[in-house]
Amino acid sequence: MNSSDVSTGMDTTWMAHGNCNNHPPSVFFPSDGVGVEAAKKICATCPVKEPCLEHALEQRVDHGVWGGASERQRRRILKSRRLAARAAAAGETPVDIDVFTLR
Ligand code: SF4
Repeated sequence: MNSSDVSTGMDTTWMAHGNCNNHPPSVFFPSDGVGVEAAKKICATCPVKEPCLEHALEQRVDHGVWGGASERQRRRILKSRRLAARAAAAGETPVDIDVFTLR
């Protein structure tokens, strides 16, 4: 079976290799900061962290921890990318922001 998502045409084969397959889904949809940090620790050693994060960003997933990033961090990444694209279009040098060091 082809493991891409038929509805979106996206390759989702990476999902089968995520560390989260060994944990209940609720772990990745925490209700507080302690839970967010626990989920991010699991993601930290995940072999598919990058495609997971890109998937969540592309799909504008609002809830949960994906690719080691909280909802807030993903919003910041998207904002940072929008600003970088705008700066590049204007011929400016975009400011590189490490959203993972921001709280
Ligand atoms: S990065 Fe986190 S949420 Fe994504 S597949 Fe890995 S463990 Fe699951």
